[in-house]
Amino acid sequence: MDINGNTLPVKDIIPFANVDGSGNRTTIFVQGCNLNCIYCHNPETIKLPCEETEETKYTVEQLLDVIKQYAPYIRGITVSGGEATLYSSFLVDLFKEVKKLGLTCYVDTNGIFNRQKIINLIQVTDKFLFDIKGINNLERVTRKSIEHSFDNLEYLLSLNKIEEVRTVCIEDYIDIEGTIREVSKHIKEYRDVIYKLIRVHYRGLTKDQIKAVKDSVPSKEKMMELERLAKSIGVKNIVTIL
Ligand code: SF4
Repeated sequence: MDINGNTLPVKDIIPFANVDGSGNRTTIFVQGCNLNCIYCHNPETIKLPCEETEETKYTVEQLLDVIKQYAPYIRGITVSGGEATLYSSFLVDLFKEVKKLGLTCYVDTNGIFNRQKIINLIQVTDKFLFDIKGINNLERVTRKSIEHSFDNLEYLLSLNKIEEVRTVCIEDYIDIEGTIREVSKHIKEYRDVIYKLIRVHYRGLTKDQIKAVKDSVPSKEKMMELERLAKSIGVKNIVTIL
């Protein structure tokens, strides 16, 4: 899916973030996602723009005006969501202008995209932060009928466009060990790539989400075991969020 338009539906802008890629970055959260993860911490960004959603539509020029205010203090921008790649045409135009300011452009993605359709976006994006949600049972986690495309990850790795791969560790839903093994095999040769292992948590989630998640939080010991597993396969750069 690629939603073309002259404006970008923006749910929120965080002027300064340091968890969305290297350095201080301005993060733009788009409205609309192609998944519906049970542990999503931005559930209000999932619905595509419609009468029920509240977002602000920005043109490229309007977003640039916002970014220019922060430009002296940031390394670049990261577009997150929701799912940024849904708006690839708009982002190509935006990124070309942002680069003229000497800033880098990152995309935070769930990895579920048709890469031929976003090839222009891939070309102008400096780095991707890339989710691998699991190797099995993805329908239970994402509530969509999808499979993870390791092809997309491989392709971006080969272009040196991956800064970070992320897996939310949740028990009972996915084969966590199998997922970490598979991701580790793919990234171990890319020494600069960070593998972020995130222990699922339910603070701030809706009642239904809490019900679905609360008994599936891995213990801290389990998280350390998972970190050791990734290390044993050869991943050098692991960040474990407990
Ligand atoms: S991919 Fe991200 S934004 Fe979309 S539903 Fe899942 S966690 Fe939420």
